Amino acid sequence: MECPVCLGNYNEEARRPKILPECGHSLCELCVPQLWKGGSIKCPQDNTVSLVPNIEDLKTNFAALSLIRQNIESNLNGADNSNSQVDEQNNEEEFGFNITEEDKRDYLNFRKFCIGRIKELLEKD
Ligand SMILES: [Zn+2]
Ligand SMILES: [Zn+2]
Repeated sequence: MECPVCLGNYNEEARRPKILPECGHSLCELCVPQLWKGGSIKCPQDNTVSLVPNIEDLKTNFAALSLIRQNIESNLNGADNSNSQVDEQNNEEEFGFNITEEDKRDYLNFRKFCIGRIKELLEKD
């Protein structure tokens, strides 16, 4: 999973994914200041403008980070569909930390988005 601006992979250090409140897309923490103009950020993916008075107020997409970690792990394990049921059951625990309902919804939306995106990429190949 990569930042649409610099095409660098998100990580848990300098390139934490930040959520644009208006459209829900993310970009990495390094690119946020470059796109931030006069209290708003224009999404590089769909040109939606999000009002962001303070860059510090942007939420980190912890859900995406969790998903990245999970994808890396399942790639290593050669994941297949047989895991999907287990995933549903362990939804509460897979984060490894307490999250709000809002974060959980963000995560589920993001996961849906990513799965769609991965399918798209696979079909292109
Ligand atoms: Zn970036
Ligand atoms: Zn967007």
